[in-house]
Amino acid sequence: MPSDYFEMMLRSLNLTPEEREMVVEKRKEQCICDLCPTFEACGGKTEENEAFAFCTLGASACIEEEVECLCSTCPLSREMGLAYSFYCTRGSETQQKIRDVIGVK
Ligand code: SF4
Ligand code: SF4
Repeated sequence: MPSDYFEMMLRSLNLTPEEREMVVEKRKEQCICDLCPTFEACGGKTEENEAFAFCTLGASACIEEEVECLCSTCPLSREMGLAYSFYCTRGSETQQKIRDVIGVK
């Protein structure tokens, strides 16, 4: 599976705003970030800190320190063929891919 399958699939979907919201909610349900030590280091799951699916939504506003990343074991990561990790600190799959391609760290 190509590593940009994730982006390709998202772009091929002609979703309404409601459908897009459903996709994001489904991703949040699949996300296992709340089991991760990096997530825990930021105080764990709270009302202010519940935005998961960082691979889709981009970096967390709270998490700064990288401890360990469980993304490679996440069902969504395998399903979508994601290539990167530490989405909570480094940004979404697409953001990391763009930085990789243009050589910016
Ligand atoms: S790949 Fe990582 S950020 Fe994305 S849904 Fe899975 S655990 Fe969450
Ligand atoms: S993106 Fe990776 S490092 Fe960040 S909270 Fe999720 S599993 Fe942990």
